[in-house]
Amino acid sequence: MDCIFCMIAEGKIPSKKVYEDSDILAFHDINPQAPVHVLVIPKTHICCLDAINSENSDIVKKIFEKIPEIAKQAGITNGYRLISNCGEDACQTVKHLHFHILGGCKMQERMI
Ligand code: 5GP
Ligand code: ZN
Repeated sequence: MDCIFCMIAEGKIPSKKVYEDSDILAFHDINPQAPVHVLVIPKTHICCLDAINSENSDIVKKIFEKIPEIAKQAGITNGYRLISNCGEDACQTVKHLHFHILGGCKMQERMI
């Protein structure tokens, strides 16, 4: 499958890793939108939030349990924003479920 995040998860494309275990990878976004911008992905391919179901939701639970540790590991100390774009209107560009952790500065109050 021609999925850039699957290739990053398999180590075929390099990334600046923040956290990795057998199921999850967290790495710095190539085009950061905040001083700290980390992407958290399941290593297995799930296309987006819409594709989460009872068969694959264990990995989502695991990601959410790890997010505080990943944010801390990335150097975030004063709060962060978590975003997952799903589908066309949200401008999802990579069709592999991912969570953006944005931090390291005071965010704008809108969006959201
Ligand atoms: P989306 O727009 O789908 O929510 O977010 C995709 C994110 O993936 C974007 O912020 C983009 O900068 C990032 N991205 C795309 N390709 C790569 C890549 O090859 N390496 C890394 N580290 N980030 C990428
Ligand atoms: Zn994928």
